[in-house]
Amino acid sequence: MRAIRRFTVRASLPEPLAGLRALATNLRWTWHPPTRDLFASMDDELFRRVRDPLRMLLAVPSTRLEELAGDEGFLARARAATDDLDRYLTEERWYQRRPDAADAPAAIGYFSLEFGVHEALPNYSGGLGVLAGDHLKAASDLGVPVIGVGPLYRSGYFRQALSLDGWQVEHYPVIDPSGLPLERLTEPDGQPVLVRVAMPRNRQLTAQVWKARVGRVPLLLLDTDIDANDEDLRRVTDRLYGGDADHRIRQEILAGIGGMRAVRRYCELTGHPQPEVFHTNEGHAGFLGLERAREIIDGNGVGFDEVLAAVRAGTVFTTHTPVSAGIDRFPVDLVQHYFGDGRLLPGLDLRRILALGAEDNPGMFNMAHMGLRLAQRANGVSALHGRVTRRMFCRLWPGFDADEVPITSVTNGVHGPTWVARELTALLGGKDMKNSSWDAPDASAMPVPSRRGVSDERLWAVRRDLRQKLVAEVRRRLRDSWSQRGASALELGWVDGVFDPDVLTVGFARRVPTYKRLTLMLRDPERLRALLLDDDRPLQIVVAGKSHPADEGGKALIQQMVRFADDPAIRRRLVFLPDYDMSMARYLYRGCDVWLNNPTRPLEACGTSGMKSALNGGLNLSIRDGWWDECYDGSNGWAIPTADGISDPLRRDELEAAALYDLLGQQIAPLFYDRDAAGVPKGWMSRVWHTLDTLGPRVQASRMVAEYVENCYQPAARTVAEASRDSYAGAKSLAGYRTRIDTVWRKIRILDTELTVEPPEDLVVGNEVRVRAHLDLAGLDPSEVEVQAVVGRVADTDDLHEPVAMPMTPAGEGEFGAVLKLPHAGSLGYTVRILPRHPLLASPAELGLVIHA
Ligand SMILES: *Cc1c(COP(=O)(O)O)cnc(C)c1O
Repeated sequence: MRAIRRFTVRASLPEPLAGLRALATNLRWTWHPPTRDLFASMDDELFRRVRDPLRMLLAVPSTRLEELAGDEGFLARARAATDDLDRYLTEERWYQRRPDAADAPAAIGYFSLEFGVHEALPNYSGGLGVLAGDHLKAASDLGVPVIGVGPLYRSGYFRQALSLDGWQVEHYPVIDPSGLPLERLTEPDGQPVLVRVAMPRNRQLTAQVWKARVGRVPLLLLDTDIDANDEDLRRVTDRLYGGDADHRIRQEILAGIGGMRAVRRYCELTGHPQPEVFHTNEGHAGFLGLERAREIIDGNGVGFDEVLAAVRAGTVFTTHTPVSAGIDRFPVDLVQHYFGDGRLLPGLDLRRILALGAEDNPGMFNMAHMGLRLAQRANGVSALHGRVTRRMFCRLWPGFDADEVPITSVTNGVHGPTWVARELTALLGGKDMKNSSWDAPDASAMPVPSRRGVSDERLWAVRRDLRQKLVAEVRRRLRDSWSQRGASALELGWVDGVFDPDVLTVGFARRVPTYKRLTLMLRDPERLRALLLDDDRPLQIVVAGKSHPADEGGKALIQQMVRFADDPAIRRRLVFLPDYDMSMARYLYRGCDVWLNNPTRPLEACGTSGMKSALNGGLNLSIRDGWWDECYDGSNGWAIPTADGISDPLRRDELEAAALYDLLGQQIAPLFYDRDAAGVPKGWMSRVWHTLDTLGPRVQASRMVAEYVENCYQPAARTVAEASRDSYAGAKSLAGYRTRIDTVWRKIRILDTELTVEPPEDLVVGNEVRVRAHLDLAGLDPSEVEVQAVVGRVADTDDLHEPVAMPMTPAGEGEFGAVLKLPHAGSLGYTVRILPRHPLLASPAELGLVIHA
């Protein structure tokens, strides 16, 4: 028999245990070991199986609950835990104590199509979602008032299994939100909060809203699987990345527009301050800016241009991929279908909406372009990715060099308390970190691992312990996978001999798009085999990763890997584990000695798994891409040389794979197996310590969130305040300025320029030169433009390299002048340019307007 409907009945807790519910429903337990210990102490054996406090409360027999209700020791520990949670939720933390806390945003809406907080809430597919989860957790630790917003998927992302011949098999277990650490938002009358967005043909999409508590941060999740919806609309939130473009645009409309309405209602109902700044995590959630525009038009009688200025001021857009295929684009017809009848966003002109997503192909609507046009502040996720992104989108700022495109970068980070092994925290954390781990209230005092007094031997022993735990997990998962593929227990005796807790362990786990090159290590199978089976210095490799269900090419790569791993001659040393998710990832990051990453440079925007490995003392072996490009320092791991200039991909793979084998065989394995009398690899340990010391603080999500606060949220809140004060006077002024310069800009001229050296002909680096320019500003006031003298190197062409710009000041009728130091020796050139200037512009390049001499 099959159930037609599922529901979860809450446990009834004896009164003295009532406080446990607050502990179980706040996901802080996922990064707070003492809370987990408390639940484990209810029934150790049971907790090892269910691993989730909420399910624990359902699973513990009522007789045991009664017993605990009378156990003074347990009750005291439970009280201490709830007190600790209360303190964590209410005390002032880093954000409240900053010097400029006074005009910091009262709340920030963080929108994402996926959130990976914990496997107990399977609402993510991979890195993007886990990053969003880590963002919320770090925001919570720092006291940053973020509200997370996104869809709740009934089947999350797919679960991966393997067929006997190694082909990926997908299945989609249905989740029941009432059994998850979620609570339904309700109106004062007890009815569910419902959020509505208009659909074509007079229909309506309705969603209920669930709230997860991620420490201090509320995470609002929209769910359309309710009776109020037509059958097809119920399925809008069925799966993550599961459908066609139509399914996808509905999800994005729900997340952006419905998400905005959900936040508004949530704040009205709870008294939580309304967000002033909105962060779009990837283009998917970008429709939120349109809903913001509708709100402002609706209440203030201002036009679209004014509104645009106000919306842009308060929006931060983070792009996460330099792969053009990774950018969300919809056929214009489809956008027209949803927005065309004007019911979805009353007051917004379809043509203005379409213009926001315009790209080279007139038939497509580009969500990244809309993201950039709706956000005054935009960033990539590593320094290298910032550079690549500026080049990728420089056409939106014609006339500017790629370096000047106003897209910055904030390098991703990972949430230490979530990812660092408890064993390691206990060893390195000192007394403050022992239990409450790394969630210090202060980013600058963020505890970082400290080696004070800890010997190589002790750290090595912990590393071995973690490797040993990984080996046990590998065997367990491999056995499950083989049983699932049809093997009987009798045939699986060999699984107990898989992996060895004393062998150098390499991990490679990630999604399987082509650019990540899952099978690069198989380029020369004989060389790999020789490394794995070396008598004295063997390697073992654990591989995992899911392929997008529609990506047959990716599945073929997985199959190739699985077939290689199935070979009885090497299966002891190389395994492919199906169903990579956070629960598996944890073991891999903690237990691997080397974390391998070999994308095609520069297509990995950041990569975060290597950061999680580094925090546990793993050494990265990676192409210099994403974060590793800025963090590799020569002794915290290894860089695989890239064959950047080589355009033939096969040749490139061959060269890079050869370099990989060389590093593994000639440097990494020898260092790992070079032991002192006590069996400790001294040289290896010095790299491990160096990694913990130098990368420990840098790769933390708290560092990332603090950067977002200081460089994005806080400046955005200030601009919003200026733009919206006095009935949007600032926004009106900026919109008026734009209209005015649009008409006169073409008439502005640089009539002549002059560069003089003093003393004459003394061109020595560091000396000063005077630049003068005579301009016709076509009626603009000198204060309305920024005039710059730019000096840079010139080579064969007159293009300026390493330009240095210096503002010029008005010096009489139509005259501007500046004195600047010669920045470089060698052949230099100079020019003069005019840029727009307005107090509400975040960068002079923002409007994409410039006049060159
Ligand atoms: C961190 C993480 C990722 C992201 O790893 P990348 O290095 O960015 O590929 C993917 N999946 C899970 C489960 C993670 O924890």
